[in-house]
Amino acid sequence: MARPSLHDLTFRALEDELASAGLPRVHALPLWRALYREWETIGPALAKNAAFPPPLRRWLGEHPPVLDVPMEHDMRASADGQTQKFLLRLGDGQTIETVLMGYDGRHTACVSTQAGCAMGCVFCATGQMGFVRHLRAGEIVAQVLHAQRALGGGLRNLVLMGMGEPLHNYDAVMAALEIIADSRGLGLAPGRITISTVGVVPGILRLVEEKQPWNLAVSLHGSTEEERAALVPVSARWSLRTLISACHEYSRQTERKIFFEWTLIAGRNDSPAHAERLGALLRGIRSHVNLIPLNPTAGYDGTESGAGAAAEFQRTLRRAGVPSTVRQRRGIDVAAGCGQLTAQRPSCVPFFPPSQPLPHPDPHLPRKA
Ligand code: SAH
Ligand code: SF4
Repeated sequence: MARPSLHDLTFRALEDELASAGLPRVHALPLWRALYREWETIGPALAKNAAFPPPLRRWLGEHPPVLDVPMEHDMRASADGQTQKFLLRLGDGQTIETVLMGYDGRHTACVSTQAGCAMGCVFCATGQMGFVRHLRAGEIVAQVLHAQRALGGGLRNLVLMGMGEPLHNYDAVMAALEIIADSRGLGLAPGRITISTVGVVPGILRLVEEKQPWNLAVSLHGSTEEERAALVPVSARWSLRTLISACHEYSRQTERKIFFEWTLIAGRNDSPAHAERLGALLRGIRSHVNLIPLNPTAGYDGTESGAGAAAEFQRTLRRAGVPSTVRQRRGIDVAAGCGQLTAQRPSCVPFFPPSQPLPHPDPHLPRKA
């Protein structure tokens, strides 16, 4: 695991760190601003920052800080220019992927929380590669900073739907989100941050208990125990029944809507009968279903449902009173779609050298001065 960095520290932890070095806690603010408003990338430069109080500069000079600034190993842009996929190399050489999507000039970053994933969902490329390691909080934060730098600022939404299972790396993810949402720095609104989970029930209950403010998405894919277990092996550990009961608890306690993700696989889970069972399963939970036509991966030979089946599925859900959206496919040409992230450098897709910035999708968006 790479060395801990300043980006691992929440504001409170940074204050504590400074206090234990005999510095005033108020010195945390200028340092925080340099990290999260100015997006400083060079540790030694902090010791020379003229805006810092001299004791802070001195301390930084004596204790050169480590920052999480992953190297951009590769960047690919989809043909429509709306999706960019970054292959990032972490401090220990491990690679991960981060995706930046632009819709109507609004940008969403999709970040990874682990290298690989231990959950083994059969249709997911990250699951097919297996688990490598958890990311530290700073390595999650660094992906958001990378997206901000690529955009020149203006990131609106964050989804934890990249590589890995966020609730399997709970503490690091919660620390990262606290840092990302801190209004003294990056300041992303909690309501614009979504955690997606395969259904790690203890993690969902902990979100409720700790009153965590983030949106929750739960990946279901199956409406009976058998159907789900065939796609999502972790169902053997936390059954569909216990998962739905945790969702009821979440819904009751938070009064927030839960997003349910459903990968539509032709002939497998896309019939009106599946939709009817799903509608019945979600009764009493404030829900919105996101239907994701299956994206191709090397290790799974299912195919995506056609538009007709997706529309029929939606109509059936609507009759059951459950709103839904069919997720538009984005970035498939550069393998940046849901479940396609493997952090490898394929050789058969358009390649833009890292130094060549993409045309900004919306030139009118505010950019960093
Ligand atoms: N581990 C978390 C978040 C990362 S996966 C989770 O499973 O929710 C993000 C989303 O991509 C999940 O809803 C997942 O089910 C979906 N997904 C995985 N593989 C896919 C594929 N091949 N096609 C479409 N969606 C896929
Ligand atoms: Fe892991 Fe999510 Fe992929 Fe399942 S779908 S293997 S939980 S990343």
